[in-house]
Amino acid sequence: MLRSIDHFIGGSTFASGERQGDVFDPNQGQVQARVRFGTASDLQKAVDAAKAAQPEWAATNPQRRARVMFKFKELVERNMDELAHLLSSEHGKVVADARGDVQRGLEVIEYCCGIPQALKGEYTVGAGPGIDVYSMRQPLGIGAGITPFNFPAMIPMWMFGMAIACGNAFIVKPSERDPSVPIRLAELMTEAGLPDGILNVVHGDKEMVDAILDHPDIAAISFVGSSDIAQYIYSRGTANGKRVQAFGGAKNHGIVMPDADLDQVVNDLAGAAFGSAGERCMALPVVVPVGDDTADALRKKLIPAIEGLRVGVSTDPEAHYGPVVSKAHKQRIETYIQMGIDEGAELVVDGRGFTLQGHEEGFFIGPTLFDHVKPGMKTYKDEIFGPVLQMVRAADFDEAVKLPSEHEYGNGVAIFTRNGHAAREFTARVNVGMVGINVPIPVPVSYHSFGGWKRSGFGDIGQYGQEGLRFWTKNKVVTQRWPDGGPHGENAFNIPTFG
Ligand code: NAD
Repeated sequence: MLRSIDHFIGGSTFASGERQGDVFDPNQGQVQARVRFGTASDLQKAVDAAKAAQPEWAATNPQRRARVMFKFKELVERNMDELAHLLSSEHGKVVADARGDVQRGLEVIEYCCGIPQALKGEYTVGAGPGIDVYSMRQPLGIGAGITPFNFPAMIPMWMFGMAIACGNAFIVKPSERDPSVPIRLAELMTEAGLPDGILNVVHGDKEMVDAILDHPDIAAISFVGSSDIAQYIYSRGTANGKRVQAFGGAKNHGIVMPDADLDQVVNDLAGAAFGSAGERCMALPVVVPVGDDTADALRKKLIPAIEGLRVGVSTDPEAHYGPVVSKAHKQRIETYIQMGIDEGAELVVDGRGFTLQGHEEGFFIGPTLFDHVKPGMKTYKDEIFGPVLQMVRAADFDEAVKLPSEHEYGNGVAIFTRNGHAAREFTARVNVGMVGINVPIPVPVSYHSFGGWKRSGFGDIGQYGQEGLRFWTKNKVVTQRWPDGGPHGENAFNIPTFG
């Protein structure tokens, strides 16, 4: 009998949904559990629970809300091992990397522990005679998050942490491919003292997502996933009058200047291109050496480094990366590798046909390297989202700036150089949302904000930090006067000026 993964509504698990989805063990290539696919009526149950609990939560002072976050942080840390193993068993990323997934989410929870300070409004004493003006940020009501498979702990925490700390109730719809961790997180939030109904988890596919998009009581939606779906979520959600931020796919470039420390670059690229089997929106799947000499020298060092990577089961502490998430995804990546050959790129290291003894049905792919990839190729334009590194040679600095700037995705980019002027010039000119200088994966820390540009992000407010705060609240501005009982003003018909 397979384990059933149920919804979490109003503080307890809730089994409903005729349709179910398979949840695989990517190491073995076998189904390990089934997740229920909910319907609009299941969503309604979650909305009812959220609606009943939210006003009191919004009225709870921020230091008490912060205390729940502190307690939650402590509980997640205490349960880190269990969470990392659960995450790794459904996603396939190695356990150490799964810990990082939880940890990067927890950093936003740490930010939320400071919510009383972050939510403080602005105040002007004496904006006019006897007049003071102040602003306050109020919660929106009920928020929802629709999340991708590749960070099943971090991204839900980015969303529900901020939304709940700001006084909203929240509904998460996790990826149906690895849905267990968000449920455990919701249980831990309850254990931390969060009132029932403030955090709910509903499972499902398009039917559930559409129900969220159309529900009149859901005020705001945060989405992370692939770009076509992100655009759909943004269009339908905003057409329904909701506030929406929708983050999409990526194709991040790593520019290597002739003066870069190549050993450091190889080290950084190996992790950023192949870590988590390349299934990261901030992975670095395109390397752009500037000049043929740089490209040749880099290629010489990259080949043995890539061939030396250890692919293993996700519980293997020595493995650099594990299997990809599904059989269909494995096949898609292999199709792209063949397409690269057909398009005329040079396949330098071929990861197809990789098998692991005892795990022949697992979704493994060896590391792959292409050289002489050209901007017109489909394999360059599309996000492959696998352990495939593509080298695109740039003739000079200007071409290196142009490549990521003209790519339709604009999530992250990195430049490797010892030249401060080149780095400064690059960051000013490049048309991409997040930039790393000798930092391969520039995911901003929790007190800055995350957000890609172009087809990597629809809507204009980022995740977490000050931008997250803005997204999950609305600003109210109060202009107040306390008359002193003296004579009334004469003319009340003109627009008031306080000058
Ligand atoms: P996905 O778009 O397939 O799924 C994301 C969510 O959308 C899931 O919850 C899924 O159930 C739902 N969904 C899928 N198809 C739908 C449809 N037709 N209608 C409505 N909802 C639908 O993405 P994924 O494969 O889970 O995740 C990988 C993608 O996410 C990659 O493109 C990656 O770059 C992107 N990603 C982006 C960021 C970022 O911050 N920009 C972060 C992580 C992942």
